[in-house]
Amino acid sequence: MRNRKPARKKEIRASISFMTAFGVVLLLTNILIYCPECESTEINRNGTRPREHGRVAAFICTNQDCLAKRGKKTGRQFTVLTSGEIVKLVEREISEIIDALYRRGAKAKTIASAHGVSDALVSTLKSAVDRTITRGLHRDKLVPQKTTDTAVSIDETFFKIDNETIYAIIARGYRTSKVLGINVSKTRAEADIRKAFDEAQANTSGRINIITTDAHGATRAMAMHLGYPITAIVHPHKKPYKKAIIERIDYDGTDRVVTQIGVKVDVFKKRAKREYKYRQTRKSTIPPVKRPRGRPKGSKNKKKSKNTPPKSPKKRGRPSIFEVFKSGKKGYMKIRPQFKSIKFLGKPLGPVMTGLSDAFSIFAGMHIQNNKAETVNNVIRAVMPLGGQRTLEQLDGRLRAIGRMRNDPTLDPTSQLHHRYNARVYLKRFAGSDFRHDFSNCNITLCAQA
Ligand SMILES: [Zn+2]
Repeated sequence: MRNRKPARKKEIRASISFMTAFGVVLLLTNILIYCPECESTEINRNGTRPREHGRVAAFICTNQDCLAKRGKKTGRQFTVLTSGEIVKLVEREISEIIDALYRRGAKAKTIASAHGVSDALVSTLKSAVDRTITRGLHRDKLVPQKTTDTAVSIDETFFKIDNETIYAIIARGYRTSKVLGINVSKTRAEADIRKAFDEAQANTSGRINIITTDAHGATRAMAMHLGYPITAIVHPHKKPYKKAIIERIDYDGTDRVVTQIGVKVDVFKKRAKREYKYRQTRKSTIPPVKRPRGRPKGSKNKKKSKNTPPKSPKKRGRPSIFEVFKSGKKGYMKIRPQFKSIKFLGKPLGPVMTGLSDAFSIFAGMHIQNNKAETVNNVIRAVMPLGGQRTLEQLDGRLRAIGRMRNDPTLDPTSQLHHRYNARVYLKRFAGSDFRHDFSNCNITLCAQA
């Protein structure tokens, strides 16, 4: 005989509406009522409870596991406004406010009015963020344990302290999105970027073999001088914005071989046959012997030969990073982002394939960009208003604390909040001026569905 399944219990759902000058406004419909503790829908009606404006329906959790979890004799009791779904909405609201505070660095007043909450609530949340930062200040590593990142983005941003420009260089892992290296300094030379890179390398167990950057010369120079093969994906914040250069750096004996591959930023976006251009340069890593100073002896009186053709004007300096688009050779590949597949046509050079495959591994189905940059700026903005005295060391410390806070969920500022926030936090934003603190114009209706 087949076991018959027990009849499914009816789910209880609720709707919340507000009475306004223009009539009834439905705020939330079909909210599933479940336990805020264990998220179970195994609940029973549990009479009513008195509230400011009349009695409201109550529920009790009947999930046995929930009882065990709480170590209590009776199940968790709650009302519609303290049920799981609403609690989640409230928590989301709170974490959005916190996010606005520490990530976007928005002003307390702006946040309070945007979220329809009191200045007092925002300042409570702000001190939670500050406490988390202070806790983070006492840790030394940016990550609780080493990550597995092998690709990092290197971004830099600058800000001013007493009219002096300060640079923040931040290295973030692509796999984990974690901040792996930070360097705050008055310069942004190769050595400054190297510091952030070295810290990032120390915080991951893999060897970093792909970096993305927005083409600041020092970052590219750093990649060249690491002394091991690496792919640098450069997306210049310069005209023409729609082009990216993949630089594959390899070594052949004492020579450094740089293979540049020029592509459009949307090259990996869709399934298509795509063109790229490439150009290879080779240079010895042994520094050239310096020429003796001055002119060679006896050259002053030497007669000039009349038959030497006039020298053609030689271009000075390094060629532009976009040179590959002008003088590079063409190559083709077939891109299928949905299958993570890249197929090269013809027989391209090894470094061309490595460089393109590396870039594809990060940007398949996307535009090539140094896409962590925006976050860096936001983090900086956040540190500024929260900081007291503005010194380079302090900014470095606070920036690190924010980095840790983002990397380590146990440093979440919401864990610093010992209060469960009321549904008002959420409802007020949506009901706006129609919201009444005593809920006298609020109507909650229940319905049971099979
Ligand atoms: Zn429960």
